[in-house]
Amino acid sequence: MLPVTRLVSAVRFFDEPMLQLARWISERYVAPLATVLGVLSPPRVAGEEADLTQTVDDRAQRPEVPKGPGAPPAPATLSGYRGGPELIRAIGGATGAFILRPAPEDEQAAAVHAVRECLARGRRAIVVVPEAAPVPATAGALRAVFGDRICLYLGGDKRQRYRDWLGLRDGRYDVVVGTRPAVFAPLRDVGLVYVSRESHAAHRDDRAPYHHVRDVALQRTRLSGGTCVLAALCPTGEASALGIPVVTPADRRWPVVEVVRPGPEGRAPRLVQALRSVRRAFIYAPVPGYGVAEICRACGQPASCASCGGLLRAESGQVRCIVCSSVGVCAVCGGTRFGIRRGGAERVEGWATRSASVPVARPSRPRLPKPTGEIVVGGAELVRDLGPGELDLVAVLDADAAARRPGLAARERALAIWMEAVGWARPAGRAIVQSSHPSDPAVQALVRGNPDRFLAREREQRAAAGFPVGAPVFRVIGGEGLESALAEHEPLTSLVTTLGDRTICLLALEAGRVPAFGRAMRDLAVGGVVERVEAEPHL
Ligand SMILES: [Zn+2]
Ligand SMILES: [Zn+2]
Repeated sequence: MLPVTRLVSAVRFFDEPMLQLARWISERYVAPLATVLGVLSPPRVAGEEADLTQTVDDRAQRPEVPKGPGAPPAPATLSGYRGGPELIRAIGGATGAFILRPAPEDEQAAAVHAVRECLARGRRAIVVVPEAAPVPATAGALRAVFGDRICLYLGGDKRQRYRDWLGLRDGRYDVVVGTRPAVFAPLRDVGLVYVSRESHAAHRDDRAPYHHVRDVALQRTRLSGGTCVLAALCPTGEASALGIPVVTPADRRWPVVEVVRPGPEGRAPRLVQALRSVRRAFIYAPVPGYGVAEICRACGQPASCASCGGLLRAESGQVRCIVCSSVGVCAVCGGTRFGIRRGGAERVEGWATRSASVPVARPSRPRLPKPTGEIVVGGAELVRDLGPGELDLVAVLDADAAARRPGLAARERALAIWMEAVGWARPAGRAIVQSSHPSDPAVQALVRGNPDRFLAREREQRAAAGFPVGAPVFRVIGGEGLESALAEHEPLTSLVTTLGDRTICLLALEAGRVPAFGRAMRDLAVGGVVERVEAEPHL
């Protein structure tokens, strides 16, 4: 430690338990402790601290926060769940972790119920949601029930965030609901950390220390003696490999899902027919645009981008490269007219409009179809926590495309989005999935509304690929000697590539080896062999 030259702030930014958590993150993700301490709190706004004494005085005079202001009679959502009574008994009582697969229409109510149980035991709760905008329905539902006791830690400007953080630290709130940073909220006596939509990619931080909210939540509750709930319609393979109890509805609470073969241009006659009579529907069309340029009209050669050779896509009346965004020009002759193979959300909007008896929209912001009757068309960007959908129909197009997407976790991510979309058909609607492979495990999981078998199979495939679920993965970038230095740690798998004079290694380790590996990486970084270590890259 260097000599202290100046006191910057009177605010204490972390206490002993948070330091313990930070040390664990530093070791698990092989990140400098200083980097971890830096993400525990928001950037400081000195002006907010000037009022600090004032705030503390205010608090002394503040009346007790009324318990459950204006709360409607508490619905016991989780009581009827398989494993629900055990979960309810555990919350706030002792260290424990659960996977919760709510019925789609219960997603928000389940979070409210879990938080209520925690508060009833006199402890505090953290709810982590994947996104700030639009405000997730789960956050809205919690706010409506718990009123002033809850801090919405979602986006906001720097000043507001720092003020909220100080408020949390001063004990002004009993519950915080927010995005990733909320998992570090300076609440005391945390009895519950509830991770909403656990399978969402945004729960992993793409900047150092590259932590995942799920792992931090599990560790924080281990340290505080609280309960961790990982909630998702389709949990990740990582969560399902933890071997913790799964809490699910006791009866089938899933729409009827019909699998049909895609017809011409990906239009199954069954779907076209269904669209005639539906009032509110969502068509999940994951491919953007109007279609893909197949051949150049001038020279007859296969179309590709003149700048980079990438795929050319027609969108909003223009052909552009999907890789470099250049305006579409034929790589062979410079022609600009192409034969288009039609297919994509824009095209779907076109044919759905002709079939439907209600308006069809392709909104740029996530929203549910209007109550007056509407069909919404769009991709993953629209599938958010928007509350119970109560739609007549949800259609999933291009289901087979998910299998072709690169990445070990691509199918798992696709299934999670399908399930969130199809859940909107609860309680009285139905779903149509277009696939040429009805027996595909992901399609079957969607039909059953249960991803267990699919996840078990994915675990086998991940293990066969050398990246078993639950084994820590690191991407290490460095120079000469890196490969041999890493081999000493006997990785389960090590993939090495070189880029100029750099070596990039992707390796999976046994969990027990991470501490020694981390110490070695620090030494190698001092020696200049290691440039960067990135934990848990998206696979
Ligand atoms: Zn290009
Ligand atoms: Zn050409």
